Amino acid sequence: MGAPAQKTINSTRKRIKNKAITIGEVTVKPGEAKYIALPLPGLYSHSNIHMPVHVISGKEAGPTIFVSAAIHGDEINGLEIIRRLKNSKSVKRLKGTLITVPVVNVYGFINKTRYLPDRRDLNRSFPGSEQGSMASKLAHVFQANITAHCDYGIDLHTAAVSRDNLPQIRAVLSNDETKELAKAFGAPVVLNSPLREGTLRETAAKTDTKILLYEAGEALRFDEISIRAGVSGIINVMRKIGMLPKSRKRDKLESAIAHSSQWLRAPQSGVLRTTIPMGNRINKGDVLGYICDPFGEVENEIKAPVSGMVIGRTTLPLVHEGEAIFHMASFDELGEAESVYETFHNHVGPEDESVAKNDEPIIY
Ligand SMILES: [Zn+2]
Repeated sequence: MGAPAQKTINSTRKRIKNKAITIGEVTVKPGEAKYIALPLPGLYSHSNIHMPVHVISGKEAGPTIFVSAAIHGDEINGLEIIRRLKNSKSVKRLKGTLITVPVVNVYGFINKTRYLPDRRDLNRSFPGSEQGSMASKLAHVFQANITAHCDYGIDLHTAAVSRDNLPQIRAVLSNDETKELAKAFGAPVVLNSPLREGTLRETAAKTDTKILLYEAGEALRFDEISIRAGVSGIINVMRKIGMLPKSRKRDKLESAIAHSSQWLRAPQSGVLRTTIPMGNRINKGDVLGYICDPFGEVENEIKAPVSGMVIGRTTLPLVHEGEAIFHMASFDELGEAESVYETFHNHVGPEDESVAKNDEPIIY
């Protein structure tokens, strides 16, 4: 199932030289790696602000891919994923060009918040414009300098504050190539996710840049499993598109493909006790948890409205009526495993030495 481009290069044994790439005012030639700082609107404190970019240009030709994180400024798992990716042994044998942007929404990152100082959501502001709002200008810088160069992109997210996501890829599965890439990543779940107006994914689709969105873990926290799965997932995708040599490992994790999802909302205000872990197979009618008043006088069971799996949930047990508490995905078929998360956990297990230098795991 190798990418056709790689087959051609291998079979002719001809080494096609990579092209130089110019981002901002910096040109990165084949075989070079450079940091680039893209100017952004400064702060009112008279401080200059830049978007940090790192480019690795392989000696041989291949696709150009970006990996971006913290488009929502408080979603920081991707920062660590990019650090490990950039330092991994694999990328030294890169064909094509790898562009990493660990902090896209620099302002939100500084303030430890999802949004920009003008309270806009950057991921609703694409493609942006030079004359627009602060969010619009920032989106334009990313669109013009990063996405416009790329055949592929992987955008790294987490759940919002006080929510947790099972590692999952979100993508438009009606596009066959995107679906193959989504499966190649090897997350426990792939969720079909229609394009939303103003998102990076929607804008990229118009210029035929194939985008995967990786969601895993919680805002403002590092989660070792989500990080490790993110690094190996990106490397799996780069292998699939011929940027890296194929893996010799045979046991690939099959993702469960979810066609749709829905949020369950709290039927009453109160204290929530969750009783089902994320990633477990669930049948319609199963109890996922309980909401009660502090004395336990009035208690409501939260039952699954459909069969499937919890792929996201609140981590804060204090809820108001109507608040989203469980994100449930529905599947056409859900394999044999009782828990995709357990299978995945075992699979991610020890660090793949061909992929990374062995970083010590982050433990809380
Ligand atoms: Zn996000």
